[in-house]
Amino acid sequence: MAKTNLKGMTVEELQDFIVSLGEPPYRARQIFRWIYKGVTDFEKMTDLPRTLVEKLKELSYIDKIGIYKKFQSRKDATVKYLFLLSDNNIIESVKMEHSYGVSVCVSSQVGCAMGCAFCASTIDGLKRSLNSGEMVDQILVIQEDIKKRISHVVIMGSGEPLLNYDELIKFLNIINSPLAFNISYRRITVSTCGIVPEIRRLADEGLPITLSVSLHAPEDDLRDKLVPVNRRYPILELLDACKYYIIKTNRRITFEYALISDVNDSKECAVKLARLLKGLLCHVNLIPLNPVRERDFMRSKPENIRLFQEILRHYGISVTVRQEMGADIEAACGQLRRSIMNEVKR
Ligand code: SAH
Repeated sequence: MAKTNLKGMTVEELQDFIVSLGEPPYRARQIFRWIYKGVTDFEKMTDLPRTLVEKLKELSYIDKIGIYKKFQSRKDATVKYLFLLSDNNIIESVKMEHSYGVSVCVSSQVGCAMGCAFCASTIDGLKRSLNSGEMVDQILVIQEDIKKRISHVVIMGSGEPLLNYDELIKFLNIINSPLAFNISYRRITVSTCGIVPEIRRLADEGLPITLSVSLHAPEDDLRDKLVPVNRRYPILELLDACKYYIIKTNRRITFEYALISDVNDSKECAVKLARLLKGLLCHVNLIPLNPVRERDFMRSKPENIRLFQEILRHYGISVTVRQEMGADIEAACGQLRRSIMNEVKR
């Protein structure tokens, strides 16, 4: 019989497992704590009885991802991690330091199926979704490595988190658990390209997390090209789902808008965007595009970025330009993983 991986189970799931072994439920909480302290060897769980340790060894194991390579930015404290999964896939995560704490950008899938025109993660398509344990491990292993508490998590790495919904929710539950990482939901951001039914489903969970929506265009024609999932869920449907999210959670939504030279950075685009978002409890995050080798898009000129921002502000939209971190280590979505995979292939 295949052994059960305990990494990535919620406390409740672990409890069911432990009870099925004929053990008292409170043992699950002890084991859960050990797992998210980073222990993978049942022998090191010193408060468990011998008989239980033997049972656990026979029936289960605790998976852990390993650091494959690490890239430290010379410009700031940003570190990019490449992790090796048990099936030899590689994923990436980014650690950033801010005045308010340490954040980690987590991947939710190996590759991505969404096909956004400017993104590196999607070039080779989707390999598979990550399980909740592999998502938690990105936090766990980085925290062990830096010996500092991670205070903020953004699910903005490779993949579309809302297309890996169940594992995402388990992951959020575990990192929020006081028995594990105790990261407040308010310090967690989930970024989506706009999977409308799943945005509504997430709203119904009632978790006070921040939803970040990758908009990138103020009208359907253009968004169809940049973010192809728009053909399935056009902008007005997307904004309806966003309104629902705001009503249900009372949380401000962030709209991501990567500024691409001569594509979506005109004054007209800014005005259209402002009209579209008027009255919505939201914030716009302008991202200077990270040019990807395989794509021929260019970053907007600084003066155009400034103008775009001024127009939004003029219309009363809350807006900031994302501060760049780790640009020298290809910290943008999927870029580093791709160059490493090419290196490995060579
Ligand atoms: N699939 C999710 C989360 C991963 S992408 C989503 O689409 O939101 C995280 C963010 O990085 C998205 O806003 C995405 O559009 C943006 N992004 C991807 N490639 C980029 C690039 N080359 N330059 C700037 N932003 C990029």
